[in-house]
Amino acid sequence: MLPAPDPALPRLHLGGRALPVVGRARIYVCGVTPYDVTHLGHAATFVWVDAVDRVLRRLGVQVDVCRNVTDVDDVLTDAAQRAGQPYERFAAVQAFHFERDMAALSVRRPTHEPRAHTFVPQVVDLAAALVDSGAAYTAGGSVYLSGAPVVERARLGREEALALLQANNGRTDDPVKRDPLDQAVWQASSADEPAWPSPWGPGRPGWHAECTAMALSTFGPTVDLHAGGADLRFPHHAFESAQAEAVTGVVPFARTWLHVGTVQVGGEKMAKSTGNLVFVGDLVARSSGAVVRTMLLDRPARDAWDHTDADLEQAGVRLDALHSAAGRPGGTDAETRAVLEALADGVDVPRALDLATEAGGRAARDLIAVLAL
Ligand SMILES: [Zn+2]
Repeated sequence: MLPAPDPALPRLHLGGRALPVVGRARIYVCGVTPYDVTHLGHAATFVWVDAVDRVLRRLGVQVDVCRNVTDVDDVLTDAAQRAGQPYERFAAVQAFHFERDMAALSVRRPTHEPRAHTFVPQVVDLAAALVDSGAAYTAGGSVYLSGAPVVERARLGREEALALLQANNGRTDDPVKRDPLDQAVWQASSADEPAWPSPWGPGRPGWHAECTAMALSTFGPTVDLHAGGADLRFPHHAFESAQAEAVTGVVPFARTWLHVGTVQVGGEKMAKSTGNLVFVGDLVARSSGAVVRTMLLDRPARDAWDHTDADLEQAGVRLDALHSAAGRPGGTDAETRAVLEALADGVDVPRALDLATEAGGRAARDLIAVLAL
C-alpha cells in the first residue's frame, strides 16, 4: 500500500502549471543511443530528470521513471561497423560506460530501463495498428506514418520540418515514401542491416516507434511527464506522441513535457562532427560528480547555455558555500519550507540554492539531501 500523501507539502508545478498526481507519477525520458561516450549535453537531461524525480519524492509522491536504451538505431549500426564489432557487443560496452557516468553524477537508476531490441514485436504490433487506423501506410516492405498532420500540429513550416528531419536521419530522400515528411514506423532492411521478421518482410523499428512502443508497454496510454533534450522536440517527440495518440485515442499522450536546454560550446551545439564534445568523465575527474551536478542544475532547465571552463569553478564555489552553510546549527521550519517551495515551483534550483545558503542549517542540509549534492 502507498503511504498517504502529506497535504501540508507543496505541490509540484512544471511549465507554470500544477502537475497533480494520483497514485504514482510516471516519467518517461528518452535515453541514449549507446554509440558514443556520454557528453555533457546527454548528462544535462538525465540529471534534470533525476532532480525532478527526487523533488517529487521529497514532496511525498511515488515516482516511476522509465529511461530507455535505443540499442537498435542506424547511427549505432554505422558506428559499430566503423569499429568493426557486432552491434550488440558494441552497444553493451557503450551502455556500461554510460551507467558508470550516471553513477558518478548520482543519477538514480530508473525503475524501468527497456532496451529497444527486446521491444521489436511491440513495434510490429504498433505498426499494424497504425496501418489499421489509417494513420500509416505500407510501401516497399516499410510502414510509414503520414508526416503532414504531425508537422502541422508541431506548428512548423514544411521547409523547416524537412531541415529538422534531414538533421535527424529522417530519410527525406527515401523514394518509396508518398511524402518526404513521412517517417518509418517500420523500416525494411537490406542484407547488411539488422533485421527482424514482420508481416511486411525483414526490417527494423523506426526510432520514434521504439519509444512509442516502450512507453505504451511500460506505462499504458499516457505519461505524467515526458522528458528529453530540446533537440528531440521535433521530429522525435512529435512523431512518438502522434503514434501513441493514433493508436490509443488517449490525448494527450504526455501531460507535461520537459525539454532540457541544449548545452553549447563556443556557441555551437555539442556534436562529434564539430569536435566540441565535453565528456562527463573528464569533468568529474577534474572536480567531482556533485560539482558537475550543481553546474547542470544551477540554471533554468529549459534554457540553452554555453559551457565554459569557468562554469565548473563557479559551481565548485557555489557547492562549497552550501556545504559550509549546512554546517551551521539549527534552522527553522519556515526556512526549510521556503527552499522546498522553490523546488516545487518548477524545480527552481538557483533560487533554492540561494535560500538554503543564506539560511544555512537545516534548510541547507535538506537541500543537499533532496538534490544529492
Ligand atoms: Zn524517445
